[in-house]
Amino acid sequence: AKAEFDRRTCYYEHDMDEHARQRRAMAKDLWTALETNGFSLVYQVQKSVATDEITGYEVLLRWSRPGHGMVSPADFIPVAEECGAITAIGTWVLRTACRNAASWPEKRKIAVNVSGVQLGSLDLIDTVRDVLTETGLSPSLLELEVTETSIIADKQRALHILRQIKAMGVSIAIDDFGTGYSSLDTLRSFPFDKIKIDRSFMTEVDHDEQSKAIVRAILALGRSLSVPVLAEGVETCAQLEVLRVEGCSEAQGFLLGRPGEIDWEDLIEPMLGQM
Ligand code: C2E
Ligand code: CA
Ligand code: CA
Ligand code: CA
Repeated sequence: AKAEFDRRTCYYEHDMDEHARQRRAMAKDLWTALETNGFSLVYQVQKSVATDEITGYEVLLRWSRPGHGMVSPADFIPVAEECGAITAIGTWVLRTACRNAASWPEKRKIAVNVSGVQLGSLDLIDTVRDVLTETGLSPSLLELEVTETSIIADKQRALHILRQIKAMGVSIAIDDFGTGYSSLDTLRSFPFDKIKIDRSFMTEVDHDEQSKAIVRAILALGRSLSVPVLAEGVETCAQLEVLRVEGCSEAQGFLLGRPGEIDWEDLIEPMLGQM
């Protein structure tokens, strides 16, 4: 038994080392990507459920890691947070997204994800202000998406930061709503302009009564707080239909559009028609 234990411990430690080594290697590549312009951005459309009109775009980060191909942000963001690169990466995302949006042929709102690490530092206030000044993007066209988990580490500081940013005219959305703990307390104390229902509630909303009941409850909450609700991860017409019936304001998901380049064709065609 002792030998067995040693052997297991040994494997375990070996795995830990291997895991740590991989994370260090990834961290190193993340810093390199920052210096070599190795990141890019894609945009996913957000639409009004009632009218099908475009209400904005969520900005999503992409990284093609040399020798590895595309790595999911779900995998590299935690490493970037751990090694401290997330602050510089987050600033790059914000600056690039705002610069791009300022040059678009039509004014469209962008929603940029903000990490909990960024929300832990007062520097974020200056970063947002500087980027808006520098790019000339109207603050009303910028929304920051924050998760509940990202604000609980230092709630008072996060609250201060978000209030300052809101005072500039930027709006704030609560992301992945329902998955963090103490959702209701967060809603009570934070100045949110939008609630984004997490994708996990959407997967079975058209055939599971429990999922539907939860979505209904979040929509009722949004209505009574006068905060619009956006449903994430809408993949089927049946899901969208439930949202329509239940009165959800906005939707986002593969059904409405995959993350990618923005298609300005619809805008340019009528313009060409006028010529
Ligand atoms: P998120 O903020 O919840 O972003 C939505 C994710 O859901 C995106 O994954 C998007 O591609 C995916 N998605 C959209 N519609 C559907 C759908 O209909 N079905 C399914 N199955 N998935 C859908 P992505 O781009 O891989 O990003 C994963 C997470 O990485 C994001 O989750 C966000 O937490 C984080 N992330 C992405 N970009 C950034 C960034 O610039 N900064 C920070 N801090 N985090 C980011
Ligand atoms: Ca998001
Ligand atoms: Ca989300
Ligand atoms: Ca088109």
